[in-house]
Amino acid sequence: MKHAAFAGRLVMLGFGSIGQGVLPLILRHIDIAPDRITIVTAEERGQEVAAEYGIRFILQAATRDNFADLLTPLLGKGDFLLNLSVDVSSVELMKLCQKLDVLYLDTVVEPWAGGYTDPALTPSQRSNYAMREEAIALREMAQGGPTSITAHGANPGLVSHFVKQAMLDIARDTGAPIANPPPAQDRAAWAAIAERLGIKVIHIAERDTQVGSQPKKPGEFVNTWSVDGFVGEGSQPAELGWGSHEKALPPDGYRHGFGCDAAIYLMRPGASTRVRSWTPLEGPMHGFLITHNESISLADYYTVRDADGAVRYRPTAHYAYHPCDDAVLSIHELAGKNWEMQPEKRLMTDEILRGMDELGVLLMGHAKGAYWYGSRLTIEQARKLVPHNNATSLQVTVAVLAGVIWAMENPRLGVVESDEMDHARILEICAPYLGEVVGVYSDWTPLQGRGVLFPEAVDGQDPWQFANFRVT
Ligand code: NAD
Repeated sequence: MKHAAFAGRLVMLGFGSIGQGVLPLILRHIDIAPDRITIVTAEERGQEVAAEYGIRFILQAATRDNFADLLTPLLGKGDFLLNLSVDVSSVELMKLCQKLDVLYLDTVVEPWAGGYTDPALTPSQRSNYAMREEAIALREMAQGGPTSITAHGANPGLVSHFVKQAMLDIARDTGAPIANPPPAQDRAAWAAIAERLGIKVIHIAERDTQVGSQPKKPGEFVNTWSVDGFVGEGSQPAELGWGSHEKALPPDGYRHGFGCDAAIYLMRPGASTRVRSWTPLEGPMHGFLITHNESISLADYYTVRDADGAVRYRPTAHYAYHPCDDAVLSIHELAGKNWEMQPEKRLMTDEILRGMDELGVLLMGHAKGAYWYGSRLTIEQARKLVPHNNATSLQVTVAVLAGVIWAMENPRLGVVESDEMDHARILEICAPYLGEVVGVYSDWTPLQGRGVLFPEAVDGQDPWQFANFRVT
């Protein structure tokens, strides 16, 4: 089914695992002629896939010095720039798109190459918080301009829509159904629902169980999506939206001192920060608290303030990521080398034998305890549904497709975050590609089973304190 017709030109910047995975979806669901699409990318990787679909392929990295000259001839009023690269400044691309009157979608908010690990920047300056502040600062300039969606893949992106659906489910199941969900632009109404339901903590709880035919070798980083992307974000300070129920800042936790103040950062990389979490099929697990845009945007979006501006309610929000087992071993090795990258990288695709990506949101602290809502997509399902994808990439690529369609349907909204988009429309487009979409309640808390073998210091008064989730 074609969801939209697009007469403009579409430029895809970057053509790695996500770019190659989304191209067949775009051609399947958007009425666009292949000769209206151009790929601009830094490596030959993917050239044969572009050729398979008859898409023009330009091999040229975008840099601080050349990006405007490189992209301007390819883009004009009403066209679309889809950024699926690494190492290119999202904010600079957003500014260029506003100037050229071009629609834009990104799956993250990225800095220029080296920005995540620049020792000249403080941890706060190289945080996702700082990058998000820079992106949303463009809102005013972009008002009434072409729609420019930041950070809309699976997470960040799709998970924001899962949170809304999960809240509606919890409201229904606790006897307070919401007949007419407010529009996404009505942030205050959604925040009021979260407060009323008593949601204290939101995890993006993900367990990737995909395994390949060749085990990870020493000196090799293996993952099911961009190794560079994962190592980049894993090396950033751990960041989390900081809820109003939290009693004390972690000993290594800091506020930024500027911007919306919805989040804090820890003075250590996310790839060495573990938290207790839970998914329905895995059960209890340790995940990495990798910094992500949605940790901050969710906490900001669901904030309720008193008349004097003081924060009355805000959930804690963060990622709890258990990547595939070979990626866990890769992180262990990387940390042992003090974050110096392994000489070899391998993005698992055809060699994956089995497994699934169980990706959802875990809403906690409400009347029914904990509720996980999300997608269970197996490698077999992913391969059957769309070529050039694994289970992890398909959850991202279908969300990219949905975001692109939504931007085409809503073309003059300026800068938009995932939380501000219509969750029902996005989920409708994504549903056929997410495998089994389920909601499961649980009585799990981070205190479960603690202190049986060894004494542990926990806050038994409130299981939902961050200190109880953190693995120390
Ligand atoms: P990848 O490493 O497989 O591919 C990156 C692509 O970018 C490659 O084609 C590379 O040649 C190109 N590239 C690198 N530098 C470039 C430059 N200077 N100019 C132009 N192209 C350049 O990565 P991926 O897995 O496809 O991920 C792409 C992006 O999507 C990353 O930023 C990643 O963090 C993001 N991502 C987001 C989500 C999400 O759910 N929101 C999930 C996965 C990936």
